[in-house]
Amino acid sequence: MDNLNPNNVKSRGGISVETAHIFPIIKKWLYSEKDIFLREIVSNAADAVTKHRRLISLGQIEDDESAYRITVRLDKTARTLTVEDNGIGMTEEELIRYLGNIALSGALDFINKYEGENENPGGIIGHFGLGFYSAFMVADTVEVVTRSYTNSLAVRWVCNGDGSYELYSSERTERGTEIIMHISEEEGEYLDSGKIRAMLDKYCSFMPTEICFINEDDEEEKDSSPINDTHPLWQKAPSECTGEEYKAFYRKVFSDYREPLFYIHINADYPLNFKGILYFPRFTNEYEPVDGQVKLYYNQVFVADNIKEVIPEYLFMLRGVLDCPELPLNVSRSYLQNNAYISKVSAHISKKVADKLCAMCDTDRENYDKIWDSIRTFVEYACMRDRKFYDRAKDALLIKLTDGTTQKTSEYLEACKDTHENTVYYASDREAQAQYISMLEAEGIKVALFDKTIDSQFMQMMEGYEPSVKYQRIDSDVADVLKSEENSAEDEELTSLFRRVADNDTLTIKFQSFKNEKTPAMLTVSEQSRRMEEMMRIYSMQGGDTDGIASFPLEYTLTLNTSSPIIKKLSVYAAAEDDNNKDKAELIASQIYRLTLLSQRKLTADELNGLLDGSFELLSRI
Ligand code: ADP
Ligand code: MG
Repeated sequence: MDNLNPNNVKSRGGISVETAHIFPIIKKWLYSEKDIFLREIVSNAADAVTKHRRLISLGQIEDDESAYRITVRLDKTARTLTVEDNGIGMTEEELIRYLGNIALSGALDFINKYEGENENPGGIIGHFGLGFYSAFMVADTVEVVTRSYTNSLAVRWVCNGDGSYELYSSERTERGTEIIMHISEEEGEYLDSGKIRAMLDKYCSFMPTEICFINEDDEEEKDSSPINDTHPLWQKAPSECTGEEYKAFYRKVFSDYREPLFYIHINADYPLNFKGILYFPRFTNEYEPVDGQVKLYYNQVFVADNIKEVIPEYLFMLRGVLDCPELPLNVSRSYLQNNAYISKVSAHISKKVADKLCAMCDTDRENYDKIWDSIRTFVEYACMRDRKFYDRAKDALLIKLTDGTTQKTSEYLEACKDTHENTVYYASDREAQAQYISMLEAEGIKVALFDKTIDSQFMQMMEGYEPSVKYQRIDSDVADVLKSEENSAEDEELTSLFRRVADNDTLTIKFQSFKNEKTPAMLTVSEQSRRMEEMMRIYSMQGGDTDGIASFPLEYTLTLNTSSPIIKKLSVYAAAEDDNNKDKAELIASQIYRLTLLSQRKLTADELNGLLDGSFELLSRI
């Protein structure tokens, strides 16, 4: 044991004025994220190991093949938390230079800037570390015992945080450094082994040197198996990683036992120079929060996991890890927000995601088809938010069809060239529009299913991006393929009859011969008119002025099928003079009208009663 008798002090010193000045501030300011002190001390230890490794690789010192390790030792009885490494160590002179006169200028600038803003300055503090001095957030005395790799004598430095230190010679024989933190009275929670383990898990899980945790008060926690993975998957070359490894890594880091839908391993070279693995999670419950989580690392040291800035806002559901050695270990929110490097990283990620979608679509279509339904809302949203993303990903945009298959948008447009060129026929409700769907399917026409909330805006955007392509709901017009060549004459009697039963003077009535004789009539609302009405409805839901809505009534068109035997019969009844036939005509026409109405909207109570009464009446006449 080193002799710490006051008479044995080799030297005393004052920490430079600026450094001394910082102590009260450390205590006052950093209370909200005190935990980072352990990250700072352990990462210094890892740095010391890295420096030693580097000296060897540079050939400056001989490789003694020692196993590098960092030990974190908790001694509740002695009230100490110790971090020991066998890295480069420090000579007496280095120790005084590095720890006695800390280059805290950056930190001081920061504190000068924010001093006075007494309340928690919103997240900034948490990402800001004071390096070695953050130990004083939890310890009232810190001892440093160190021996340099140069084999100069070991020294012990004792500082109680009042701005002065004492230096003793030490009997330490091993190369390396031991930081002994005497936990202060108020910070007893840092003597709890569960707490320390959780902090190590959070900050040190992937540090590049093996870290062992030893709890002196518990035999079971004295085993020395490392708590960290020194070669995290993201550091490997993508070609050397297996699918199973990616999935296992995901399970471990995010404690999610569902397989991710896909993942991307990014290995960006100079000048971006960052690595990472991003996962698209599988959501099984539509109510679960879809906020992703991207953990940011700095050379395998955890920095933060709520840094939204590095990921484009529209890829918010991604989970993963990013290692950015170009960023300072202690990054502030405001730094990230206005940083050109960060926006390049974010753009690169967006590009990688778009490329991955295209690659999956091209090379693994079967699987891509399967996941499309789960990812499409996100992909469509991303396309809407970022034109560049759309331009890169557009070839991976699939259309889900009502027959259960999928097609690329480009494939759909190619296939419909002869029947409805540049038009995507779609249904927004498989049940309500079932009749239209089956009529088109019977003619061999594929119908897209756009039934999600986001879809109407997505189609609007697509029409903006690709002006030659139109999206048309199948009940907005009678598709050409349904029409037959036969001529069909106007019938004034029928026109006025239907206007009367529909009680709608503006109803447009058309006569058209359909290939299919079964369907007597189709009620359509023009795409334009319906979209306008939808827009106004959304606008009014958002509290907008609704006076204008009345001036955009839905424009209904009823097309009567002149090939239909029912319509042929109806036209005879309608032209008849006697009341009996007129009465029949009225009943048939109102039934037809209400039935066509069913597929357009919900019936009013009167309409529904009319439909039921009419049906019972017809049954009674059989
Ligand atoms: P930074 O790590 O940003 O340089 P710190 O305040 O964390 O700032 O540490 C200051 C300096 O103290 C380090 O640069 C290093 O030279 C020295 N140091 C701290 N801890 C150790 C250690 N465990 N082994 C060797 N040197 C250390
Ligand atoms: Mg440091």
